[in-house]
Amino acid sequence: MFKAKKTAPKSRIIVANWKMNPVDLKEAKKTFAVIKRVNLAKIKDKIVICPPSVYLSELSLKYSGSKIVFGAQDVSTEINPESTGEVSAQILKNLKVQYVIVGHSERRRLGEPEEAIAQKIKMALSAGMKVILCVGEKTRDVNGEYLRFIERQLREDLGALNKKFFSQIIIAYEPIWTIGSGKTSVDGHDLHQMNLFIKKVLVAIFGRKSGLEVPILYGGSVDDENAKQLIEFGEVSGLLIGRASLNPYVFLKILKAIN
Ligand code: PEP
Repeated sequence: MFKAKKTAPKSRIIVANWKMNPVDLKEAKKTFAVIKRVNLAKIKDKIVICPPSVYLSELSLKYSGSKIVFGAQDVSTEINPESTGEVSAQILKNLKVQYVIVGHSERRRLGEPEEAIAQKIKMALSAGMKVILCVGEKTRDVNGEYLRFIERQLREDLGALNKKFFSQIIIAYEPIWTIGSGKTSVDGHDLHQMNLFIKKVLVAIFGRKSGLEVPILYGGSVDDENAKQLIEFGEVSGLLIGRASLNPYVFLKILKAIN
């Protein structure tokens, strides 16, 4: 297995993916009001809150700071304003959005092809935002087909990218069989192996120095009980948290546990 030189991550990235929750702005503001009570002096991490895009103008514009920032859950492939229903990278950028999740499995399962994902990545990067690219296998097999699947996703989504953009890329490894399951996620050893495998592919795409600098996060049924272990054993640079981030008290517990 590929050996990466151990480098301590500068600061970890903890992403809260609220998905299509909550159902009204009032509730969204209430949830965020609890999160922002976190003692920032004690937090080493960058916290990225990704609410539904309709709440971004209320939250991101008002509350983007140095440690708590905002992300969008998707971005348009389009630049042409004649694109009904779409939200462009520039619109997000103007709302002070700094991160965009691209290629989440819940969008891929709606039929989003790799070409669209690659295009969305380009749009977000060109607007100066960071991309959290989600990759992950549906199932595991003994022949290692799942590794080739992840490699294909990374190469198709990032392969044609101008290499200068590497510093705006973050990978979220999210095995689909763990997302929203509430079951224990991957074990630390398997996560560490996958972390090294993804690094190897990133080195092949971006070159050794740049490839090793791309942060790799883990997502899939993270909660306040497994977060610390996943970070420590998986040696990942952060977490992408769905369900557990919707309860701000649990989210704060996770932040406390890993700090
Ligand atoms: C996700 O939405 O990306 C996710 C990881 O969800 P959950 O934490 O609920 O598994």
